[in-house]
Amino acid sequence: MAEHRLFIDGAYVPATTGRMFDKRSPVTGEVIGRVHEAGREDVDRAVRAAKAALNGPWGTMTVQERATLLQDLSRAIAERSEEFLEAEVADTGKPKSLARVIDIPRGAANFATFADMIKNLGGEFFRTDTPDGSHAINYGLYRPKGVIGVISPWNLPLLLMTWKVGPALACGNTVVVKPSEETPHTTTLLGEVMNAVGIPKGVYNVVHGFGPDSAGEFLTQHPLVDGITFTGETRTGEAIMRQAAKGLRDVSFELGGKNAGIVFADADLDKAVEGTMRSAFANCGQVCLGTERVYVERPVFDEFVARLKAGAESLVLGGPDDANVGMGPLISAEHRDKVLSYYKLAEDEGATVVTGGGVPTFGDARDNGCFVQPTIWTGLPDTSRVVREEVFGPCCHIAPFDTEDEAIALANDTDYGLASAIWTENVSRAHRVAPRIEVGLVWVNSWFLRDLRTAFGGSKQSGIGREGGEHSLEFYTERSNICVKI
Ligand code: NAD
Repeated sequence: MAEHRLFIDGAYVPATTGRMFDKRSPVTGEVIGRVHEAGREDVDRAVRAAKAALNGPWGTMTVQERATLLQDLSRAIAERSEEFLEAEVADTGKPKSLARVIDIPRGAANFATFADMIKNLGGEFFRTDTPDGSHAINYGLYRPKGVIGVISPWNLPLLLMTWKVGPALACGNTVVVKPSEETPHTTTLLGEVMNAVGIPKGVYNVVHGFGPDSAGEFLTQHPLVDGITFTGETRTGEAIMRQAAKGLRDVSFELGGKNAGIVFADADLDKAVEGTMRSAFANCGQVCLGTERVYVERPVFDEFVARLKAGAESLVLGGPDDANVGMGPLISAEHRDKVLSYYKLAEDEGATVVTGGGVPTFGDARDNGCFVQPTIWTGLPDTSRVVREEVFGPCCHIAPFDTEDEAIALANDTDYGLASAIWTENVSRAHRVAPRIEVGLVWVNSWFLRDLRTAFGGSKQSGIGREGGEHSLEFYTERSNICVKI
């Protein structure tokens, strides 16, 4: 059985608390790992190691040397991709066919991309006239922010963690990562790769544990942490913001969503159905960018519902190793209970259950896992909780609309503002509608198509700030203006 220790100052160490917690397989419910729970003292050691590393060899490396190390790291992850794949699917239960093309390669790419980008980071320059008839020159420089606290979720563990660690290290920072308690494996494994490629000790540290009164809280409260980057639930973001307020640490938050898909009657329905299938059911619906509300123009409503139903009913459910499996389990029994409570609530609120709504049976060990059926509802009012709250499961509600303005108003009628997918073959309509959706990311005729140089993040309650490309570099650096009087 895997045992996950903390990774502090380049070494795997047990937690001083002496406490461990179980990691269970989402596929069978069996205990597959034991995880050391960091206490305040362990977190303090990790943060101090990260602080000290800023003044070690890492702090004096040239940008080129740092970028080369991160390229090596990216290659080393790719070389050990089968090991990372096994670790990731054991923790999450997601199909290997998905993790092999998304999670692991993106984990490697997050280092290579920002290694390239940091080499081209420019600066600003101003010549300023002065009253004595001479002038001054002003130029801007970027410095690392310092020690970055990274708090990551369980849905895309390696991908979302490295999405933060990649640019943070590229900018010369050091990090202390607190992965989700549900997915400790790949973050721990990455420590080995850091050592193997020669990243100096103390640059990358890992503390395991939970949020409140545990490693997450201790890390985000630590006075030597200079910036906090977090991906997770909106309510957790609020708690972290309170914890980070003392000492005024900068925060970058990627939070929850209740994303709308809009399908116009002029859409290519094949593409719209295929895209919505992925956006509603990929990763068992546990994608922050996923579509939980679908609005379909009335002339194609019935056909769209019928085709999405057929798609959902054709999905094969099962564990990671079966090549035919299209959907794995939810992450944990606790999360399954939450999702099932929404399945029940939808019926209580008067939904028509088009398909699903329950738990599949297999007649084997998977019956002890965390599977739920892919589920589609219609007929709920806009005020219902199921239409307003993030479920984070393989489900969506489909409602009809009659006009473009109505579709936009429905899409925007939410506290969240992360992502939206618009399906139309009318290019003018696409450009007219997309800017009016109050979200950080709009896809037209696609979903989850990502260029890592673009801004990523949410508005309203879906986030604070943007990461991606220069936006990541902005968050992970401090800017100094140097003014030289001539
Ligand atoms: P979560 O908020 O429950 O946990 C995320 C992390 O925060 C975990 O590591 C957890 O231990 C830690 N944590 C919890 N309480 C804390 C506290 N008080 N102080 C410090 N750390 C604390 O989220 P989750 O359930 O792991 O992930 C699912 C959520 O993440 C969904 O809401 C989803 O929409 C969101 N998400 C957003 C994005 C995005 O890019 N916007 C991406 C993926 C997931």
